[in-house]
Amino acid sequence: MAGEPDANCLFCKIVAGEVPATVVLETETTVAFRDINPQAPTHVLVIPRAHYPNALSLATGAPAVAADVLATAGAVAEHEGVADSGYRIVLNTGAGAGQTVFHVHAHLLAGRGLEWPPG
Ligand code: C5P
Repeated sequence: MAGEPDANCLFCKIVAGEVPATVVLETETTVAFRDINPQAPTHVLVIPRAHYPNALSLATGAPAVAADVLATAGAVAEHEGVADSGYRIVLNTGAGAGQTVFHVHAHLLAGRGLEWPPG
């Protein structure tokens, strides 16, 4: 059920400390950790502790936590020293858009030129 831990979810296991991750920042409702396969000098994933499969289910099921995810991404950008130079927040939604882990996560990317439109 949305909001409840999913025993088969990799990111729920990271939240529970059952799978290792390099955590950058934690709040009561969110965890930020370095992407294992970075696509930019700064590549951090921000997730809600609660399990929601995608951005829409989080926004409708726990809107305050959706805001927390964005606030944590901003705090990570400050922490990483990229807030002034600019950064991109990406929420891949659906397999067709490249989502591979179905626990909503915001990619924070920075530290290199970021082209528009993205590939
Ligand atoms: O948006 P998408 O679902 O493709 O992103 C999943 C991300 O999770 C990937 O960038 C992948 O490198 C990352 N990942 C990770 N640690 C894991 C497994 C996946 O950082 N243990």
